[in-house]
Amino acid sequence: MDKHILITGGAGFIGSHVVRLFVTRYPRYRIINLDALTYAGNLENLKDIEERENYQFVKADICDAGEMNRIFAEYGITDVIHLAAESHVDRSIADPMAFIMTNVVGTVNLLNAARMAWQGEYEKHRFYHVSTDEVYGSLHDGGYFVETTPYDPQSPYSASKASSDHFVRAYANTYGMQTVISNCSNNYGPNHFPEKLIPLCIHNIKSNKPLPIYGKGENVRDWLYVVDHARAIDVVFHKGASGETYNIGGFNEWKNIDIVRLLCQVMDRKLGRPEGESEKLITFVKDRAGHDLRYAIDASKIMHELGWQPSLQFEEGIEKTVDWYLQNEEWLTHVTSGSYQDYYSQQYEGR
Ligand code: NAD
Repeated sequence: MDKHILITGGAGFIGSHVVRLFVTRYPRYRIINLDALTYAGNLENLKDIEERENYQFVKADICDAGEMNRIFAEYGITDVIHLAAESHVDRSIADPMAFIMTNVVGTVNLLNAARMAWQGEYEKHRFYHVSTDEVYGSLHDGGYFVETTPYDPQSPYSASKASSDHFVRAYANTYGMQTVISNCSNNYGPNHFPEKLIPLCIHNIKSNKPLPIYGKGENVRDWLYVVDHARAIDVVFHKGASGETYNIGGFNEWKNIDIVRLLCQVMDRKLGRPEGESEKLITFVKDRAGHDLRYAIDASKIMHELGWQPSLQFEEGIEKTVDWYLQNEEWLTHVTSGSYQDYYSQQYEGR
């Protein structure tokens, strides 16, 4: 095998698409998927590739430093693509400490394990940290986030991701580790946990439940199809320059309310409902504390320097996503049973 790549968080939404892409495109890489299988991790996401010879799953928690050292040694890890994280802003508002533990301490544990395993040979290894555009804060006066935009995180989630980004850069600067970071905008697509806007709305429209929209739905996000993010991660991993940061986005800004209306139209058509029926479910709820107004990514650097482009238009991606959720009811039933119900009632019904 040419490389033994540790992909963390590979059972989650984005991680599962990255694992699938690497396992199928690079048979000469051994892919070790490390995941603690929190509420967001689901091995059903990888059923189609679990028997592949170059794939292995390891259940472990990145907060366990000793376990990280052991795994690096046992599997002869040559490279890391780090996606494991607590990823939901609302949960970070309710419980910031879990975000500090996984996103900050967990990332530093991985950096330390890599440092110990690769010392003296850093040029042969790569530590790739996958991050978010939320580290840049909120845009109020137009413009875009570029790679040099100063960090200004506003939520416990984005503060924890910003901190982990700083640690990765510090390890490159201090120890000479070969690192690369990418900061991506909002992803959507298959396997997305239904606490996030798009899958939550698809699920609720199908079940005829209210569609909770924060504030007036005016918040703007840039959206990218998850498979296009996985393709970008492939490109950055192989072609990105060490020490660099790459912003990844779709140049595809939408207000939350407009996305929800689009989903209602698509779902009405697919479910054979009268036009306008699902829009009646829209319910405005109290705004999220400290809700950032607008994120918008300038992805010119990765496009011009590494030749990456998104492959799908948003409307096409939404059609594919809705079809996937309608065809995978079992997946949705599994992830929305048990603790999801408790979370949902507390977040939207108990106010
Ligand atoms: P996710 O919540 O769907 O998946 C996270 C995965 O990490 C899960 O499988 C979970 O079990 C695992 N995990 C959590 N804590 C762990 C721990 N302590 N040890 C080991 N595994 C643990 O998240 P996602 O949306 O797929 O995001 C993946 C990464 O991409 C994150 O780092 C996130 O910050 C970043 N990101 C996400 C988006 C987005 O729109 N979803 C956009 C940009 C960047």
